[in-house]
Amino acid sequence: MSSEVESKNRPDKRWDLRGMTALVTGGTKGLGHAIVEEVAALGAIVHTCARNQEQLNESIREWKEKGFKVTGSVCDVSSDAEREKLMKEVSSLFDGKLDILVNNAGTNIYKATTLDYTADDFKFLMDTNLQSAFHLSQLAHPLLKASGAGNIVFVSSIASVVSVNSQFAVYSASKAAMNQLTRNLACEWAKDSIRVNAVAPWFIRTPLTAPSLADENIFKEVLIRTPMRRVGEPGEVSSVVAFLCLPAPGFLTGQVICIDGGMSVNGFSMG
Ligand code: NAP
Repeated sequence: MSSEVESKNRPDKRWDLRGMTALVTGGTKGLGHAIVEEVAALGAIVHTCARNQEQLNESIREWKEKGFKVTGSVCDVSSDAEREKLMKEVSSLFDGKLDILVNNAGTNIYKATTLDYTADDFKFLMDTNLQSAFHLSQLAHPLLKASGAGNIVFVSSIASVVSVNSQFAVYSASKAAMNQLTRNLACEWAKDSIRVNAVAPWFIRTPLTAPSLADENIFKEVLIRTPMRRVGEPGEVSSVVAFLCLPAPGFLTGQVICIDGGMSVNGFSMG
């Protein structure tokens, strides 16, 4: 074990992210916002990104007021050039070392059935959800390796594990590919002391899911299918992401953790 890993595993450091550096994509809203706050509250120095400059400035102002160490850049993660620029900024900000990469930015396009999705829709969703996470992981690899105990967390979805509905075929495919990427990178990069895991949430209350949850029929169906009879809150995902990045679960890698109120293991509901 390297002395750096040994030092991060000291009993007093097992539940602590103090001094660690993190890049969380898509941090101005929803899950990304909660993840930035969670890891920053545990002591990490965080860089985040989003496309909207005003929302980024506003979030950074709020975090500064709370005493969190967070910086940010405008970046569309679906663009090759912007990803490269982002990682250069991160490298210079954190002196060539990164402890945590959270590939969170992602989205869906809602159309009535799978037959309505165009080739452009497919490309947009794959670029935004999958290629961005793949390429950012490649670009971050030397920085994570330099950390001596790096962590990647992919934000996947329960839609990668079970079929959700006719609006999720492409989205689900992008997230299912992410799950396998998690397993491959975990095995390939274990030798570089990089752990790689994914979280797969079911419906969580965020701006992305607000339109679906506002639909009474969808909301009712979600509650029927979920043993806990409610949707999740962003903090119930950010806590798992932060846990995965702590030194304490240091032997945990290559896993896709479902955060779903029991939905994916629910065979039959009595109502
Ligand atoms: P959200 O509320 O729409 O927030 C998305 C965040 O990502 C925003 O900060 C957004 O800012 C940023 N973003 C979106 N596209 C981007 C791009 N191309 N480049 C850079 N930043 C981008 O979404 P969310 O619900 O928090 O979802 C976050 C992740 O969790 C996604 O990968 C989603 O698939 C996954 N997920 C969500 C749920 C759920 O129920 N909410 C469930 C399973 C999985 P800008 O718009 O300014 O770019």
